[in-house]
Amino acid sequence: MPEGRVVPEVDRAAASRRALERRRARAALKRDLTTRVVTPQEVLRRATEDPASDAATMRITDFLMALPAIGAGKRDRILEELHISPVKRLGGLGVRQLADLSAWLDRRFPVKPPRAGRSRLLVLAGPTAVGKGTVAAHIRETHPEIHLSVSATTRKPRPGEVDGVHYYFVDDAEFDRLIAEGELLEYAVVHNTHRYGTPRRPVDEALAAGKTVLLEIDLQGARQVRAAEPSATLIFLLPPSWDELVHRLVGRATEDAEERARRLRTARVELAAQNEFDYRIVNADVATAAREVVELSSGFAR
Ligand code: 5GP
Repeated sequence: MPEGRVVPEVDRAAASRRALERRRARAALKRDLTTRVVTPQEVLRRATEDPASDAATMRITDFLMALPAIGAGKRDRILEELHISPVKRLGGLGVRQLADLSAWLDRRFPVKPPRAGRSRLLVLAGPTAVGKGTVAAHIRETHPEIHLSVSATTRKPRPGEVDGVHYYFVDDAEFDRLIAEGELLEYAVVHNTHRYGTPRRPVDEALAAGKTVLLEIDLQGARQVRAAEPSATLIFLLPPSWDELVHRLVGRATEDAEERARRLRTARVELAAQNEFDYRIVNADVATAAREVVELSSGFAR
């Protein structure tokens, strides 16, 4: 075979490998949109900023179909309304189309600005396996001036966990007593199994002493804290991607397959609640995410 023919074949193989990688990356981005790990506005921003990005090469039809509650009928109506051809990719939209699409997204998926008057009571929540505990532990190590609340729980200690440091491990009767005496700021049954709650007094004392207080709790607890203390600052920790969240959950290996599947379903529901929060921080790297939480807290005087 003449040499000239071999080289293009190698090129073709490399090109089809690259095309496959691009398709995979676009499919992952679609999953991020569907699971709300990333906002549609963010995907559009990436598409306009970098014409070579995965976002830019995504078809407008795929983009719209990945959004919550948009089916084929709605997709077609939206495209008509925005005067966008269904064959377009995000990177190929005209200036006017981009402006109209972006205005439509802001109407349909409003991104709320943080509420005013935030306090030093910080609540860190987020989907299962996103790494809330690791980020909180990192803050405990690096910022001892921040008071990290120690929760009470009815679950048994895992190896290495110390009573009074990681949790107060209590039995059901003691947990009932804490509720009855009003000693918990919030409490919830997490993952349908055990009860977890935040002892109120240490939080009040630390706040009274002028400290920043950090609660690392689940979504139900975060909502209760907001109801009890409307000035609390709610922070939602996001995974860098849906696939990474799945990877972290599987990698943790503390749950069996059925339990993992259940937690992933819960994670989807939890991700859908992120708009209730004042701030979103992406946990791509623990130290960076921890620093962002601390920087946020330093902005609040009271
Ligand atoms: P784990 O059992 O893996 O330590 O924690 C399970 C879940 O319970 C985590 O999502 C954690 O955020 C949540 N959690 C821990 N402490 C509390 C608490 O005091 N209140 C609430 N509502 N959730 C908590």
